[in-house]
Amino acid sequence: MGQDDHDSKRDKELGMERRITRRDFLNGVAVTVGASLVPMGVLAQDSGPDASGQDPLLAAGITQQDPRYYPPALTGMRGSHPGSFEAAHLVRDGNWKASASSTGESYDLIVVGGGISGLAAAYFYRKAAGNKARILILDNHDDFGGHAKRNEFRPGGRLLLGNGGTFAIESPFPYSKVARGLMEDLGINPPALAAKYALPNLYERLQAAVFFDKETFGADRLVAGEPSRAWMEATPKSLPWKEYLAKCPLSAEVRHDILRIETQETDYMTGVPEAEKRDRLSRMSYKDFVLKVVKAGPGVIPFYQKRTHDLYGVGIDAVPALDCWALYFPGFQGLGLRRVPEGRLSFTARGAATPDQKPYHFHYPDGNASIARLLVRSLVPGSVPGSNAEDVVMTKVDYSRLDQESSPVRLRLNSTAVQVRHVGEPTSAKEAEVVYALQGKAYKVRGAGVVLACWNMMIPYLCAEIPEQQKKALHYGSKVPLVYTTVAVRNWTAFQNLGVQRAFCPGMYHSSLSLDWPTSIGGYKFPTSPEEPMLVRMTRTPCSPGMSARAQQMAGRYDLLSTPFSTFERNIRDQLGRVLGGGGFDPARDITAITVNRWPHGYAYEYNPLWDPDWPPGQSPCEVGRQRFGRITIANSDAAAAAYTDKAMDEGYRAVTELLGQASAAAGV
Ligand SMILES: Cc1cc2nc3c(=O)[nH]c(=O)nc-3n(C[C@H](O)[C@H](O)[C@H](O)COP(=O)(O)OP(=O)(O)OC[C@H]3O[C@@H](n4cnc5c(N)ncnc54)[C@H](O)[C@@H]3O)c2cc1C
Repeated sequence: MGQDDHDSKRDKELGMERRITRRDFLNGVAVTVGASLVPMGVLAQDSGPDASGQDPLLAAGITQQDPRYYPPALTGMRGSHPGSFEAAHLVRDGNWKASASSTGESYDLIVVGGGISGLAAAYFYRKAAGNKARILILDNHDDFGGHAKRNEFRPGGRLLLGNGGTFAIESPFPYSKVARGLMEDLGINPPALAAKYALPNLYERLQAAVFFDKETFGADRLVAGEPSRAWMEATPKSLPWKEYLAKCPLSAEVRHDILRIETQETDYMTGVPEAEKRDRLSRMSYKDFVLKVVKAGPGVIPFYQKRTHDLYGVGIDAVPALDCWALYFPGFQGLGLRRVPEGRLSFTARGAATPDQKPYHFHYPDGNASIARLLVRSLVPGSVPGSNAEDVVMTKVDYSRLDQESSPVRLRLNSTAVQVRHVGEPTSAKEAEVVYALQGKAYKVRGAGVVLACWNMMIPYLCAEIPEQQKKALHYGSKVPLVYTTVAVRNWTAFQNLGVQRAFCPGMYHSSLSLDWPTSIGGYKFPTSPEEPMLVRMTRTPCSPGMSARAQQMAGRYDLLSTPFSTFERNIRDQLGRVLGGGGFDPARDITAITVNRWPHGYAYEYNPLWDPDWPPGQSPCEVGRQRFGRITIANSDAAAAAYTDKAMDEGYRAVTELLGQASAAAGV
């Protein structure tokens, strides 16, 4: 049998030809739109409009003003979807040419970026300047929320909600007064919501597992009962390490080394003072710690390599050992390090090493998209019906109301800012002008102030006026690429049969898969019976071990933007079939929809003590980069170098305060 015959046979077994949703193999995009909303002609296309890099709704002639416009119901390639990034890349490459026509609009504030930071900036501005303040928010995506995006599925007509990005209200440190205040204004009380609506016992009989794949470990084997670890949600019935390792397809030598790393209390740096231990650990990777300090054999690396992917977007070769200590990774038990946030730790790790933190944790069914929806409800009355932080989950956003002339706040989607400049000298200008691209045309609008809540590394391309040193600093934060894939399945009996709720898959395309996090809130009913349809969450972090974290992130971005949907789909079907097959899962029969939320520009860049210098206070790139420039201020979680929702809010607040401070100064207040 030729390779092609084999591939097509395998594709058939996997169900690649099954009609899950409309598929587009031309440009890596598949789309489903709520059938009731969209003409059949759109649903029927098997390849299509997005081949030219267009948003699928716009390509179908459905604009934001159209009552049928409803992006959360799109499946296929989401996140940085076709049509969202092409104009920005033209600007980056110096190839943006279109001349702009004026819309004649003039605002008190223009916000570039409709993520949590930009929406929060608009909210804080209104709070300070009054409800009559005229605000325009521009975002390049077809939906608002930035990384806080909502995915909808309707298997058999039943609504299932997923988070396209931002998963939960959580942070390594407690929310600031500003961020907490905003949450309170929106009616969000995370501990109370968690106590009332989370379903912590739903999976209580299901274990954590590791899937060993034959390409990496010589045999396909799902081994349930993974011992609980401090950094993971505990599962019952986990096994002692020795018993667990005996079931794994690992050599006796590797099992022995893992057992030693996980359980032995040895001081591998005996005689070294604690401060020096911390310093040395902050300058070596966890991989080097395991190999050179613990002196385990290289055979353990495949077992640990991707354990840092979720948080860092890179493997243990690029994450400092001290960070891993803070995050309760094994091997440090005997080193005698006190749990204090001392030494060169990244932001996330410092939070983890700070005892007695009481951070929030609450997961809305659509993640923090609910926060974005609550912000939009407050900014554009009538667009998000309802009145509280519970009913926001099931309510349907009326996108046609988001950009109406009669509304003081307007939210314009599919609109990429391509140029921002002062009208006159930055020091004395009364206005700034923003040029944006929408469906291949360019428009200009004016604002008395501009908050750039977009990805900070884009700002130097938008804003030629900014001083060179500031541009350099803004360029520094190389965002972390990652993928949140959500797969709708007919039922979850395979998980039940296997006794498993999640699997770490160290050698596979997606490094983890799990049943969706259970929350029933505001009329949303999470599937509680294994016979019901369910969402399976999968995470992929493309990176290239062996290079610096930044180089790996660059390579990962390229990987994401050049991988077609069909490659994702084939890998997803193959992986789910192999991991869950023993429980009766058939990918051809059981998968009903797939959404790949690809984020080439994902987490904000966090300083990594392995690669980054120790900047003096005030001199780190995010601090230099976020300086106010005339009527332009800079928000986004990038401006805090920390990929968290609260930081996005804090930075939105700072940017508005700087702008309004300047306005008051100009008015002699
Ligand atoms: C996959 C993923 C999971 C996460 N999970 C969590 C979590 O569980 N908890 C948590 O607290 N944090 C989490 N984070 C981090 C959190 O989502 C972010 O810190 C926060 O949402 C960032 O908000 P933001 O507004 O600063 O940026 P963004 O959400 O990135 O919003 C910025 C917006 O500006 C747009 N933009 C960029 N350039 C332009 C332009 N030229 N013109 C117009 N618009 C432009 C962008 O496309 C984007 O829509 C996660 C992040 C990712 C990527």
